[in-house]
Amino acid sequence: MSHKSSRRVIIAGNWKMYKTIEEAIHFVETLAPKVLKSQAAVYLAVPFTAIHDTAKKAKELQARLKIGAQNMNDATEGAFTGEIAASMLSDAGAEFVILGHSERRQLFEENDAFINKKVKRAFSEKLQPILCVGETLQERQEGRFEEVIKTQILNSLKGVRAKELGTLVLAYEPVWAIGTGKVASPEDANEAHQFCRNVIAEKWGEKTAFGLRILYGGSVKPENAHDLLAQENIDGLLVGGASLSVETFSLIINSYQGLPV
Ligand code: PEP
Repeated sequence: MSHKSSRRVIIAGNWKMYKTIEEAIHFVETLAPKVLKSQAAVYLAVPFTAIHDTAKKAKELQARLKIGAQNMNDATEGAFTGEIAASMLSDAGAEFVILGHSERRQLFEENDAFINKKVKRAFSEKLQPILCVGETLQERQEGRFEEVIKTQILNSLKGVRAKELGTLVLAYEPVWAIGTGKVASPEDANEAHQFCRNVIAEKWGEKTAFGLRILYGGSVKPENAHDLLAQENIDGLLVGGASLSVETFSLIINSYQGLPV
């Protein structure tokens, strides 16, 4: 049995701080008919302001598309000016949330302990977390990438139960590949994914590790998507820049044709 017959592939877009509400709705309307036959689950992490209207539009069109957020706070509510709670995201129509993206870690100094609290909050609010991990160029050059990823995984998932991990999605995103045009080779990415899976297996058991979906992110384009998705341990893609255009994003989505069972 192929692994991909038991782990449903996810192609997720991360729009970062791009698109107005109107642009976002138009995108959903245009994308929906293009991915009707997709073998992969399609996720779109939109700006907070566009969650409500895109989720409504996706529902209206019966589009096979999950709308989510790119970040959230760990608290349930309170005096945290400028922050947003998990319950507010669900209320607006979000079904998942990206946590620990390298831009959050690097530009906003988020650490594993904070990300760990967010992961737990997401679970308690029934939002599916996409947890991002990945090494910097310097860490890779120093030969420390396994140690870095392992620490990020174990600390961000501290206290999480195996059952909860069944709904979590992990994203391996080497920082040096994000927005740089430098993509990890499919073989290197596959090896890193295998390593992540081994870390999960050691701590939470083989069964949990086998079921966990691990996405690759970092300069994914229509030209490299197919080869990445053909790898044994790559269960989907997290796409930044190339998810901003319907044309390139739909090409990436449709480059996954499913694998023979
Ligand atoms: C990302 O933001 O998660 C990402 C992978 O970006 P890009 O595809 O642009 O490298």
